[in-house]
Amino acid sequence: MEQESLNKPGYEIPPEIQQQVSVTTLDRVYNWCRRNSLWPMMFGLACCAIEMIAMAASRIDFSRFGMEVMRPSPRQADVMIVAGTVTKKMVPQIVRLYNQMPEPKYVIAMGACASGGGPFKEGYTVVSGIDRFLPVDVYIPGCPPTPQALMNGLIALQKKVDNEPIKGSRWYSKEPVPEIPVPVLGPDLMDPRNYDRIKAAGQQKAEDQAAPAEGQAVSEDGSENGSAAGQAEAGAAQVKAS
Ligand code: SF4
Repeated sequence: MEQESLNKPGYEIPPEIQQQVSVTTLDRVYNWCRRNSLWPMMFGLACCAIEMIAMAASRIDFSRFGMEVMRPSPRQADVMIVAGTVTKKMVPQIVRLYNQMPEPKYVIAMGACASGGGPFKEGYTVVSGIDRFLPVDVYIPGCPPTPQALMNGLIALQKKVDNEPIKGSRWYSKEPVPEIPVPVLGPDLMDPRNYDRIKAAGQQKAEDQAAPAEGQAVSEDGSENGSAAGQAEAGAAQVKAS
């Protein structure tokens, strides 16, 4: 048992009873339990997943940290390790899986692709980082990050869990944490949260295209020169005639 992380600092316990007695807070005990049983979800997206698998092997062996129980079901997982390239086709599935995870839940962006698009950032099929859709707790740089780097990221997540107060955390507030709207894959990936903005931009574009066409129609009519170009043409014709 990690006495130093379980005991509340400031209370000295005599050495002869340190194995039997702890003085601590509810926050500390609760978070100590959670941080030592973070269960990752078992899914990978690309080459980074190989390094994630290596982390489970004997050399790194993340079961030392209570994380070896990788769950194939999101309903039993605490941590989503986004390991690999995030394509537009996969984003709806990833967001749906995240929504199905019970709270509290955490996201780790593993590698350059999950953090910001990586070497495929300019690709038309790739999303520039999973943080455009999900709240990311820990970013791990590298292409790919080593299993040691991923382990370091998980330890960073443990430290974050250590410092989450039960009362102040959003997971335990009276208001439920809203689900993230699942993006829609059409001609491009559309985030439902941006529908109003996309609609307004579409309407504006349609109006901009319609305006010159109307001007042209009026000038062809001969009754009125609606556009600046039409007026200039009329002026030039008058000069020629005189
Ligand atoms: Fe593959 Fe590198 Fe992208 Fe990881 S960051 S998925 S290793 S290309």
